[in-house]
Amino acid sequence: MAKTREVSFLDSVSQNFDKAAPHTGLPDGLLQQIKVCNSVYQMRFPVKIGSEYQVIEAYRVQHSHHRLPTKGGIRYSQKVDQEEVMALASLMTYKCALVDVPFGGAKGGVKISPRDYTTAQLQKITRRYTTELIRKNFIGPGIDVPAPDYGTGSREMAWILDTYQTFKGGEIDSAGCVTGKPVSQNGIQGRTEATGRGVYYALKEIVSYKDDMAKLGLTTGMEGKTIAIQGLGNVGYHTGVICQEEGGATIVSVAEYEGAIYSKNGIDMKKLLKHRKSTGSILNFPGAKNLKQRKEVLEVDCDILIPAALENQIRKDNAKNVKAKIVAEAANGPVTADAQNILTKKGIMVVPDMYINAGGVTVSYFEWLKNLSHMRFGRMEKRFDQNTYNNLVSLVERLTGHTIGKKERSLITKGADEIDLVRSGLEETMITAYQQIRETSKRKKKIEDMRTAAFVSALGKVSSDYLNLGIFP
Ligand code: GLU
Repeated sequence: MAKTREVSFLDSVSQNFDKAAPHTGLPDGLLQQIKVCNSVYQMRFPVKIGSEYQVIEAYRVQHSHHRLPTKGGIRYSQKVDQEEVMALASLMTYKCALVDVPFGGAKGGVKISPRDYTTAQLQKITRRYTTELIRKNFIGPGIDVPAPDYGTGSREMAWILDTYQTFKGGEIDSAGCVTGKPVSQNGIQGRTEATGRGVYYALKEIVSYKDDMAKLGLTTGMEGKTIAIQGLGNVGYHTGVICQEEGGATIVSVAEYEGAIYSKNGIDMKKLLKHRKSTGSILNFPGAKNLKQRKEVLEVDCDILIPAALENQIRKDNAKNVKAKIVAEAANGPVTADAQNILTKKGIMVVPDMYINAGGVTVSYFEWLKNLSHMRFGRMEKRFDQNTYNNLVSLVERLTGHTIGKKERSLITKGADEIDLVRSGLEETMITAYQQIRETSKRKKKIEDMRTAAFVSALGKVSSDYLNLGIFP
């Protein structure tokens, strides 16, 4: 019995780590130090809900202090437990290393189902959780910086910031104690869409290599690629919209809590979200058929499957039914270690979570930098660039005797706004990280899958930080 059971999420991460370790050439002691979670804070606190007190179970795990602050989201879900948060915190360390975001990894979790509470009650819980973090010195712009994750968003981050500032009045960099804040509360343009946009930039890069695509039986380019998405939350929704609108891909299937739908001709993501808001469900969407079970989304015929919900979705029991050529882990841990082996044998390319969903933390890093600099990106150079480009265009016009239209001119001479810089910084980050992972797998011939290559690349970076610290001479 024990043999056929699927391993836990934390064990999966551990197995993946162990698979990559021999390819790194690092000493065992150092590998052990990197693998373990440095600090685990488990808390229980009472919150008055209606006339009763509820004892809430919550966590914050800091996986690695090789760089500070530590960084990672806070998850609100009934399924939260210590092991899950530890697994998620570990992934954050490798994720940050892969995309050269100079943070250690962390993650928080509150064991509640947000739908069971009113907004006021959620605010109470969030503020109390933040207070517990402050009390134990587990939050601060140079200590540990939370962000949104499953079940939380910019609203919760605004409450966290306000609570922090209530206690730490006068701390000049306090706005950097949390990221993913509303733009009006020291947030940054483009953070909400960031994970989804990062998934898109990553996929665009991945499908641009002719030899890699030929092996999968795919053509290059995003145009016309068929995509199935599990989850219409922040990550799944933005991934779908951007792949559709900017990449020209066709979203053939979408699944949510209430079920799954399919349409060969494509599902308009924006219309689907509207439909869900007005009817309370994605089902019965005009032009699409309802699938019998929501998990069927994982098994539809498509080029790219994007699990964007929770961990442990593609397992030993259903991995053999996956028909996609590429599985892009927009969620954290959707493919178990056992399922990974099955998919690899089937010749399916699995793009690991720690790379493909790193767009969120990348833009969080930009937000944190903005908070520390106390200035929005683009403020200093936008007008200067615009004037320079205008002078250049005028010069070309004078020399050639041709003039261009007003619209065309403003397109060419536009200085970069914050959103333009965030997007270009994100695109550059996703492309560079992919090239490093691809390079690692080409260099180390025995590496079988992209997850192992990503681990090797991340471990190389984390270990060199430890070595530079002189902890492991
Ligand atoms: N929760 C997101 C993740 O898993 C973002 C973390 C952050 O921005 O710190 O990567």
